[in-house]
Amino acid sequence: MAEWRNWSGLVTCNPLEIALPTSEAEVAAIVAQAAAAGQNVRVCGSGHSFQPLCATSDLLISLDNLAGIESVDPAAGEATILAGTKLHDIGKPLAAYGLALENQGDVDVQALAGAVSTGTHGTGRSLGSISTQVIGLRFVAGDGSLHEVNLHSDPDAFRALAVSLGSCGVLTAIRMRLLPAYRLHERTWHEPIDECLARLEERIVATRHFEFFWYPQTDEAFCKALQPTSADPSPLDACEGERIDHNYRVFPTARNVRFNEMEYAVPEEAGLACFDQIRNLMRERHPNITWPVEYRTVAADELDLSPNQGRATIAISIHQAAELEHRPFFADAEPIFRQHGGRPHWGKLHSLSARELAPLYPRWQHCASVRERFDPRGVFLNEHLRRVLIG
Ligand SMILES: Cc1cc2nc3c(=O)[nH]c(=O)nc-3n(C[C@H](O)[C@H](O)[C@H](O)COP(=O)(O)OP(=O)(O)OC[C@H]3O[C@@H](n4cnc5c(N)ncnc54)[C@H](O)[C@@H]3O)c2cc1C
Repeated sequence: MAEWRNWSGLVTCNPLEIALPTSEAEVAAIVAQAAAAGQNVRVCGSGHSFQPLCATSDLLISLDNLAGIESVDPAAGEATILAGTKLHDIGKPLAAYGLALENQGDVDVQALAGAVSTGTHGTGRSLGSISTQVIGLRFVAGDGSLHEVNLHSDPDAFRALAVSLGSCGVLTAIRMRLLPAYRLHERTWHEPIDECLARLEERIVATRHFEFFWYPQTDEAFCKALQPTSADPSPLDACEGERIDHNYRVFPTARNVRFNEMEYAVPEEAGLACFDQIRNLMRERHPNITWPVEYRTVAADELDLSPNQGRATIAISIHQAAELEHRPFFADAEPIFRQHGGRPHWGKLHSLSARELAPLYPRWQHCASVRERFDPRGVFLNEHLRRVLIG
């Protein structure tokens, strides 16, 4: 038996085997063989989800050896990227073709397929999650058959598959819509939270990527503004908190201290009221939590299981050190997020099951039918997926 654990250490499992296929054909053979043997199959990326999405006692597949850029069409601004490619291995090779990802989250250690499968996002009012940059998917279904679905060939299935937690198949390659390569001017600073809130709308409008972290101990905001620029790269000026670099070098931040996290996407208009209640909760009932609350904007999309489906959102994240108890704080915060119409990030901690999640997603039943189509025997379902997708 092998051992697998997620980044925060909260999720552990002992699969019979962790398979490391090196080709799509090998993925297909492994899935067909496991399905015939009645085994459950899960696939992992970098294990940066906080939920037991990848947990299995049967077969775990890692696509660490199915990585790299498969093809690039610079004129169309598109590339097909193998599913196991880590985000930090995408920026530089794409830049050589004059191309770049539209947006990225806080870290770049995720596998592309892992980030896509949970709707991982960065910040920016006009920018959707990484899943909205996907235009085509190649994957191995529950019987080992190979499929290719894109936005034009089968838009209905595509919209269900683009955020699907590995519940319909093992993604092997992902076609991405890209932007011309760009540099970002980063500016970071601290200020009193009330000042940050008073100027929030103005900054969100004026900045391609604006976010803040509220630190409960000091009641200060750490603000981060990223703006495209044609100026030459310049190293970090620590006093001014400024630098200019390639987009793919500016987006990620090292996260050296491990934590657990809950995040909900609330409708944009509810963001400030929700943040205010979370802030009060922390001050009044959880004054010992020193970890910041993160506040980001995400554009609406039309992907069936995206937390941003049909509405622009504010993603509000709360954190606690991995070695400290997070449950009482997260349990108190969750009803606040839900009261504001929040939908949980699929990869982060929440307590909802399908009964509570289904009413949040208008196309829930359609997604169930797409899952039935590609994995009728439930080869890819583990206990957690049964709870959140079936109930
Ligand atoms: C330090 C840290 C920072 C983070 N920052 C952000 C952020 O800024 N924004 C944000 O939105 N989220 C963020 N997250 C959450 C994270 O991006 C998501 O949980 C993401 O899914 C993790 O990617 P992964 O490669 O580790 O995938 P895993 O956690 O390993 O897997 C995630 C899901 O993808 C599926 N999957 C993986 N590979 C495949 C495949 N080839 N085919 C089919 N399904 C597959 C898995 O089965 C699972 O359901 C962060 C998490 C951490 C720990």
